[in-house]
Amino acid sequence: MLPERLRRVIELFALLPGVGEKTAQRFALHLASDASRVAEELGRELSELSSRIRPCARCQNLADVSEGEEAVCAICRDPRRDARLLCIVHRVQDLLAIERSGAMRGRYFVLGRLLSPLDGIGPDQLPVQALLERVRADGVSEVIVATPPSVDGEATALFLARELSALGVRVSRIASGVPHGGDLEFADQVTLGRAIDGRRSMG
Ligand SMILES: [Zn+2]
Repeated sequence: MLPERLRRVIELFALLPGVGEKTAQRFALHLASDASRVAEELGRELSELSSRIRPCARCQNLADVSEGEEAVCAICRDPRRDARLLCIVHRVQDLLAIERSGAMRGRYFVLGRLLSPLDGIGPDQLPVQALLERVRADGVSEVIVATPPSVDGEATALFLARELSALGVRVSRIASGVPHGGDLEFADQVTLGRAIDGRRSMG
């Protein structure tokens, strides 16, 4: 019914999180219409995405990168940020959610994954060395562990607290308030702000 090329575009859109078949079809038909000039710009931006956007060399947040330059994100570059306060999150989405709450004046470290024995993700698969290096290099005095309040998130928080305690930094955990098993991404700003402000020492 549809040209092959258009079917392929629909298939690709449908691979994106939260995009079903119908939405994928709507996107593709819109972009293919004469009226849409979005397709051309989207194509250009997407083709450069992987070469121009890289994980930040310091925190793994996403950063713009120019030729021959080390990728350092806007938060790590910002001199007004308190380098002695470091917030550990699972994903970039969580960092963005905490940023929206306005409660974090320090910097971040994005783990990228959580401990998950069922999925075969053990301590060796977490970027622990990079994290410890970051803590030492920046003279971090407090680490806030803001992994999600799920089984994997709690296990990861306990593991990291043990690793970090050897460095003599204060380790705290975001307070409850974010529903158990919940996604930080979907918590409202006030709840998230309170969870950061009401953080508790992990010992
Ligand atoms: Zn960064």
